[in-house]
Amino acid sequence: MPNTTLDAAWAADWLRKSAAVVAENRVALSELDRAIGDGDHGENMDRGFNAILEKLDAEPPATPGAAFKLAAMTLMSKVGGAAGPLYGTAFLRAATAAGDAAELDAATLATALAAARDGVVARGKAVVGEKTMIDAWTPAVDAAAAASASGAAPAEVLAAAATAAEAGAVSTDPLIARKGRASYLGERAIGHRDPGAASSALILRAAAQAAGADA
Ligand code: ADP
Ligand code: MG
Repeated sequence: MPNTTLDAAWAADWLRKSAAVVAENRVALSELDRAIGDGDHGENMDRGFNAILEKLDAEPPATPGAAFKLAAMTLMSKVGGAAGPLYGTAFLRAATAAGDAAELDAATLATALAAARDGVVARGKAVVGEKTMIDAWTPAVDAAAAASASGAAPAEVLAAAATAAEAGAVSTDPLIARKGRASYLGERAIGHRDPGAASSALILRAAAQAAGADA
């Protein structure tokens, strides 16, 4: 697996690949949200990532931390609903963890992912099993920490995180939601995937792809 440097170019490419995959899945994400929410998750995320693309073109970030901060500010201002502030906080915490570093090593990457997840928890108070994006983020953070501790290269850490996030998103299918709009549905949420967990898995896979990881 390639050991692509996680520098500003990687971070910008991650955001561009995220925008592309969110656009491709805009309808699918809103359909998930239509089943257990208000049907706007794909539109919300697509609006936010389109605005990120405009900012990336206007002012290319010099460091990964600057790219994460650009994403955070844009998602907070452009994405309404629950997901905007949650993703915004995630990217803002990741920006703080990345600091001014020109590139992220595997350990800093794992720390930044954990900080992002902790930001979502600080804001939304969800724990694993409540059918939210945390069901994707927490296994991703755990897998990233394990991969980093075993000496994996940054691209492998990202690939491990993405694979765990995808499994985590699938794991929301049989759950009753305890947070967010879907929590009003009770047992009717069973059998539907959480849209925020699904978008989180797409975005983490985009991070791995930007680093040159397979799949
Ligand atoms: P809204 O629910 O306001 O319409 P979105 O549809 O954009 O916002 O996003 C819904 C997603 O937000 C859910 O699928 C879930 O993953 C996430 N979410 C909602 N509330 C919380 C929370 N308290 N903690 C973590 N994630 C949450
Ligand atoms: Mg919604």
